[in-house]
Amino acid sequence: MKELVIISGKGGTGKTSIVASFAALADKCVVADADVDAADLHLVLEPTIVHREDFSGGSRARIMPQQCTACGKCEEICRFDAITYDGPGNGKVDKTYRIDPIACEGCGVCAYFCAEKAIEFAPVVNGQLFVSETRCGPMVHAKLGIAEENSGKLVSLVRTRAKAIAQERGIDWVLIDGSPGIGCPVISSITGADHVLIVTEPTLSGLHDLERVSDLTRHFGIETQVCVNKWDLNGDLTSEIEAQARQRGMRVAGRVRYDQAVTKAQIHAQAIVEHECEAADDVRDLWSNIRAIGDKHKHGIRL
Ligand code: SF4
Ligand code: SF4
Repeated sequence: MKELVIISGKGGTGKTSIVASFAALADKCVVADADVDAADLHLVLEPTIVHREDFSGGSRARIMPQQCTACGKCEEICRFDAITYDGPGNGKVDKTYRIDPIACEGCGVCAYFCAEKAIEFAPVVNGQLFVSETRCGPMVHAKLGIAEENSGKLVSLVRTRAKAIAQERGIDWVLIDGSPGIGCPVISSITGADHVLIVTEPTLSGLHDLERVSDLTRHFGIETQVCVNKWDLNGDLTSEIEAQARQRGMRVAGRVRYDQAVTKAQIHAQAIVEHECEAADDVRDLWSNIRAIGDKHKHGIRL
């Protein structure tokens, strides 16, 4: 089994369109949307959900007003300023303390130190994980609740589930639409992956993002390839990005030209390669390069 994670320095580089096309081109694959903060692969692959489950990334504290004596200890020790003296009265005191659920980081310290045992500390549901069927094969995806965090943990769960399905069904490729940026979710997206493809654009911020993301993949020792999307918008910068990529030990897997047909494909919920256009040829070449590298690795050949 080969796990390819497609990432970008920021959102909006065309990463998801490329993942959807790879899913359409691979004979058999499991596809996973690990960009849980802004999941949109489902818009193209139109999955039919066959399994859903709640995801809990941790616990959160809640004061039970009836038991609170308003001693103030919890407010004093909460390092996240999540506790305020504006809760309802309870017959013993005029006001009690209250925890802001958005500000609470779920450390549990307040519950541990409350002498009255007035603080409930219980797991919360942060989102949902789905296993679906699509026209390109099984898909694992997730939805994080509004203002919920712990997406790194959810990303790991999405990847683990996708790999388990691939193993069960004897599927060779696991394609992961990774989180953008360089934070916790992208680290969870790439840790332990076989290959990473960085999708970037020919802009100065694209060049800068490439440097930051490649530092990350180098740190984790992951075989990394680069693709410049909409390369013909700035040929000089594309060459500079590709030179930079090679200098940093990455392989340039291909270029995809700017093509208005890509937007038309998106409007019709199609992958680029499902819509006849010039960019589709570029994506086919890109996939064939990546697949060739994956096959070489399968046979123990390092490039
Ligand atoms: S520590 Fe417990 S009793 Fe004291 S204010 Fe906080 S919740 Fe109320
Ligand atoms: S669990 Fe931690 S962050 Fe949340 S209110 Fe209690 S002390 Fe503050």
